[in-house]
Order: sequence, then C-alpha cells, then structure tokens
Amino acid sequence: MTPASTPERRRARLLAFYDTYLVSHFLRVKGKLGPAGYCHCKQCQRASGSAFAANAPARTKYFGITCGDDLVSEYESSPGKFRAFCRRCGSPIYSRRDSEPEIRRIRLGTLDADPGRRPLAHVWVGSKAPWYSIEDSLPQYLEGVVPRESHRPCSTSRT
Ligand SMILES: [Zn+2]
Repeated sequence: MTPASTPERRRARLLAFYDTYLVSHFLRVKGKLGPAGYCHCKQCQRASGSAFAANAPARTKYFGITCGDDLVSEYESSPGKFRAFCRRCGSPIYSRRDSEPEIRRIRLGTLDADPGRRPLAHVWVGSKAPWYSIEDSLPQYLEGVVPRESHRPCSTSRT
C-alpha cells in the first residue's frame, strides 16, 4: 500500500477539504463567511417557518451548488431579492439580491460543519414574532444595521 492511499492520508485530505470549504448537502463555500446575524424580519420568518433566520454572507465567486442546479429553486420574495431553497426537501439555502451580485447570504442551518462565525446581533427585531422572546445578551436592532467590520449591510441587513 502506498502512503498516498493510507486511511491517514485520506483523512488528512478530507480534513483539508473541510478546512478550505464549508459544505452542506446543497452547497460549498470556499473561505470564511462574513459577519453573521439573526434576522427577525417577516420574510425570514416565513422562509424558515420559525421565529428567525441565522444568516451570514459569502462571496459569490467562492460559492457553489453541489446538489445539482436542478434541485435548487429561487423565488423573488421582493423585487430584486431572491430566496433559494431545495425543491425536494424545502430547505432554505441562501438568498441574493440583484443589487449585490457579489454576495450570497448563506442560511447557517444548512451547513454541516461549524461555520466559525457567531451571530453578532439580532436585526429587524421590530417585526419579531410575538411568541418568541430573545433571551441572550446580543445587541438588538429594530431594523437592519451596518456592522462596524463591514461597509455594507451584510447578514445583518434584512435578508
Ligand atoms: Zn430577514
């Protein structure tokens, strides 16, 4: 058996892959995600079927669909804003805007591994579900905010 085919080598290659990419059944993202946040807007409530969505931005050029483009559908939830989901299981995957073609907002729940980012804030708390109470100490914003580490609204804008 050559060293290249040992289980240790294969495991090392796999770890290297996961170090480089964040993956899920639906997508892979190269590199790190941007600042994450919990979005309580009504659109995210509807899309997730829950009280909020956990999102973080990724660069479109480092983003790829892995499950087959035929399984991913997009719908225009508001003018120029598209939400992608799996046609088979309904899982939300990402959103994108025509006005920000370089960014995809990844639904953190779709990722198989720890994305490394922790949400920085709750946004659009003004439309929060009345049946949900925010119990953590993260900052809360009635609408979206521009995070200090970014010059543009990312996951902490309405997504
Ligand atoms: Zn939202």
